[in-house]
Amino acid sequence: MKTITILGATGSIGTSTLDLIEREPERFEVLALTANCDVARLAAAAIRTRAKRAVVADEGCLADLRSALAGTDIKCAGGRAAVIEAATMGADITMGAIVGCIGLEPVMAAIQGGKTVILANKEPLVSAGDVVLAAAAKYGATLLPADSEHNAIFQCFDAARPERVRRIILTCSGGPFRTWSTAEMRSVTPEQAVAHPNWSMGAKISVDSATLFNKGLELIEAARLFPVPHDSIEIVIHPQSVIHSLVDYVDGSVLAQMGPPDMRTPIAHCLAWPDRMATPMAPLDLVAIGRLDFEAPDPERFPALRLTREALNMGGARPAILNAANEIAVAAFLAREIGFLEIAAIVDDTLSVYHPAAPGTLGDVLAVDAEARSIARRQVGYRNGALMKDSVV
Ligand code: NAD
Ligand code: MG
Repeated sequence: MKTITILGATGSIGTSTLDLIEREPERFEVLALTANCDVARLAAAAIRTRAKRAVVADEGCLADLRSALAGTDIKCAGGRAAVIEAATMGADITMGAIVGCIGLEPVMAAIQGGKTVILANKEPLVSAGDVVLAAAAKYGATLLPADSEHNAIFQCFDAARPERVRRIILTCSGGPFRTWSTAEMRSVTPEQAVAHPNWSMGAKISVDSATLFNKGLELIEAARLFPVPHDSIEIVIHPQSVIHSLVDYVDGSVLAQMGPPDMRTPIAHCLAWPDRMATPMAPLDLVAIGRLDFEAPDPERFPALRLTREALNMGGARPAILNAANEIAVAAFLAREIGFLEIAAIVDDTLSVYHPAAPGTLGDVLAVDAEARSIARRQVGYRNGALMKDSVV
């Protein structure tokens, strides 16, 4: 029996994680479940799993949570500090499934417990890779990657002989606009951008998958997690999302991990690691899939690929600035304040005007993140103003 805490239990990854652990109640005992403010879903999951604690990050939602859990012995709490505290309850396994860099502090708190931390939440690794990895080493925590590509690499990578790895190949579905021209992408709506062809995910990562910032963030994530030179990590477009990534060795052997495009497979791999556990999906039907296609990515139509590669190579604060600006731009796009192509433009603008020193501590990263957000918000304001003027004319 292992105890588990799910940070971000009401989202796409959180829901998939709950689905798996609820199938094996004799194997997992829930300590805490957290959400931003989705009280109905959080309370229902807490009752079903007999969680010890349920936490909303938005304190304004605490009263509703209390009434939803009235008459149970589930402890309720609210506010950012309460989420961080929930991460310190000593769970054997913590699932980091909050979206965005806002998940960094709770993940760091879980790491300090020295147990297993599963990272779906990729933004903290992008923004604060060195800080996160140093803390994991210091406290003896085990980090397991749930992102499907990184989980695939983890399964194929010979950690004892990293020098025998020639390349890591990250696969990328290409997103919903894989074949669209830049001109066609100009008028993309939030509804079109979140409709991913293969995966069902939260809104933010769906937009990232459409701009290909998701693949760029994953490039940085892979560079943090696996000890290979940055330029030996390549990206290839693979529209079927059946191969989740590959590792190429010096002898020419290329190992790939395949599976259905369902996050429950990589999540199950992490939950049971180093053992395996069953998932409810049908076995992969290769004959029904028929063929696997591959294409080169196009950094002209998808500038996110260039921006993320540059940020990775320059290092220091660049990945944190890129991530923060992207989070602000995606939120502005979803709120219809800017157009789709302006997401990358705002990231580019923010990177060009802000050049802080390399962050060395968690506090430094949070400061860079906050400043980059306020710069990006100003950029949104300028562009939004321009957009409105355009529409008046
Ligand atoms: P989601 O939007 O579906 O869920 C996000 C969760 O975080 C929810 O429980 C929400 O209540 C919580 N949350 C939101 N804002 C918060 C805040 N300010 N404070 C505390 N909690 C907050 O997102 P998702 O698609 O499940 O993605 C979660 C993370 O996993 C992201 O970092 C994403 O990049 C990564 N990821 C997701 C997928 C996927 O298939 N969905 C795949 C790989 C990686
Ligand atoms: Mg992924």
